[in-house]
Amino acid sequence: MQPVRQKEETGMKDPRAARRRAAVTRTGGVTRTGIVTRTGIALAAVLAGALASACSGPSAVDAAGVAAPGGAEKRPGADPAHGKPAAAPGARAEDRGTAGALAAYVEKVRKAQAARAVAARKWGLAQTPLPAPPPPAVKPRITTRKGFETDGEGLPPVFTTVPTKEKIVFLTIDDGAEKDPELLRMMSELQIPYSAFLSDYLVKEDYGYFKKMRDAGVALHNHTLNHRYMPGLSYAQQKREICDQQANLEKRYGTRPPLFRPPYGNYNEDTLRAAQSCGVKAVPLWAAEAFPDRMEWREWDRDLHPGDIILTHFRGKEDWKGTMPDMIRQVMKTVTAKGYAVARLEDYV
Ligand SMILES: [Zn+2]
Repeated sequence: MQPVRQKEETGMKDPRAARRRAAVTRTGGVTRTGIVTRTGIALAAVLAGALASACSGPSAVDAAGVAAPGGAEKRPGADPAHGKPAAAPGARAEDRGTAGALAAYVEKVRKAQAARAVAARKWGLAQTPLPAPPPPAVKPRITTRKGFETDGEGLPPVFTTVPTKEKIVFLTIDDGAEKDPELLRMMSELQIPYSAFLSDYLVKEDYGYFKKMRDAGVALHNHTLNHRYMPGLSYAQQKREICDQQANLEKRYGTRPPLFRPPYGNYNEDTLRAAQSCGVKAVPLWAAEAFPDRMEWREWDRDLHPGDIILTHFRGKEDWKGTMPDMIRQVMKTVTAKGYAVARLEDYV
């Protein structure tokens, strides 16, 4: 799929600097209160402990769940390069009110991560996926990415990256052609969150497959009825493509999706207006695209960044060089090697 504004983006002087500035202004509210910050430090220590457990086996972790220095460096939120203090055991002692909850949280993360390490071996992953930090208490305010605006105002934001400082990315899978039961098993066992953007002309071949996906905790979002090129359609036609799919997904799966992704990432003001008219709150595009044999990047630096949305597709061997599990192995190899965890998009958007 061709990113709609690739050329304009590569012409930007320093998109990463702009992104960093934007991220700071958008997420400031979450860390302004001292309590949240202290808890964040404590949780970073907790998660670092859980991670150390997964990397080196349970015996390598001390009883307090405090990480070895090498482990702390790798954790989201505990990276000195991002201006946050390294995790310190003393920070937790201050927070006696939450000590019990934290202890329970340590245990939960440790157990989940141990199960994940087993699943990672079973499914042939290069490394155990990193645990995501706890979801933010307040979702970040998301605005339309620069260069992605339409003339309309007050419309759902169009973005490729969620503003956050955490080393997390989001996995989104589009269309619905391949309905591989192995994918459902793999993702459940690995506890990797993802979101599905569904087109009815493919999903209708087997609504039951996506019902199982929903029952496994995956949010199902709107990718139109027939996967048409939206800017080539009238407002009324676009409304039918988007809003009839809203109604269809609600009827089949019980909830009206808050998120919509236009086919090929192409849209105009009518698209956003039509989507808004039937309950769409946000329009996530993507910063990188995953295939079974490679990644394709939107940004000039060909890298991941905190909050990046990764696109991939429900496809099989007829469509690309591998199976859905092959694609997941490939994308997780990249994500984990770069020190990122996969987080749940609906916790942030
Ligand atoms: Zn698509």
